[in-house]
Amino acid sequence: MEDDELTFLEDQLAGTELLACETCGDDTLHAHTEVLEVYPMTTELLMQCTCCQTERTWIDWTPPKPKAQSN
Ligand SMILES: [Zn+2]
Repeated sequence: MEDDELTFLEDQLAGTELLACETCGDDTLHAHTEVLEVYPMTTELLMQCTCCQTERTWIDWTPPKPKAQSN
C-alpha cells in the first residue's frame, strides 16, 4: 500500500513540468494533457498551464529509464 502511494506521488510529480507560459508571461506548472507523438529518444506532449489552462506542446527529452539499476 505504501509503495502504491509512493508510486502515485511520483506519477503526480512526473505529470507536471515547469514551463514558460506565454499567456502568464512566466514559468508555471504545466500538467501532461496528452501524448501527441512518441519518437525513439523523445516524446511530444500536449501540456496545459495549471494557472490559465493555456495548452502548448512540449518535447520531453528525458531518456527512457533503465529498468534495473541495482548493483
Ligand atoms: Zn499560463
